[in-house]
Amino acid sequence: MTLDEEKKIELVRIATEARSWAYVPYSRYAVGAAVLTESGLIYDGMNIENAAYPVTVCAERVAIFKAVSSGERKFQAIAVVTKDGGMPCGSCRQVMAEFSLNMLVIVADEDGQVHSESPASELLPGAFRADSLT
Ligand SMILES: [Zn+2]
Repeated sequence: MTLDEEKKIELVRIATEARSWAYVPYSRYAVGAAVLTESGLIYDGMNIENAAYPVTVCAERVAIFKAVSSGERKFQAIAVVTKDGGMPCGSCRQVMAEFSLNMLVIVADEDGQVHSESPASELLPGAFRADSLT
């Protein structure tokens, strides 16, 4: 998936803003995300932790689930911003693969420096998908 530079910068900016709303009293590792739908809308997300740790939800999944709960199913790209350019976890990669294996995953740090750009398919080779169930 190709995406113009202006749109990448916008996604990183929105993910950076969303990061400021992260609820991270335990890890203090704030993450922001912004997902661009095929229809051109952008949904943001931030990680939301819980005292029962496994209930914590990552920023990427919050953004994607917000979009899905609004009727979106296909995505062009997602920007993920952490303090140091940390990569999406396995659960988020699985959720990305569920909806759009070709979505561009842009990972940036808090200064807006892009550390990684790759399609979701490269982040989860051999992904388990709906056609695996047939
Ligand atoms: Zn995750």
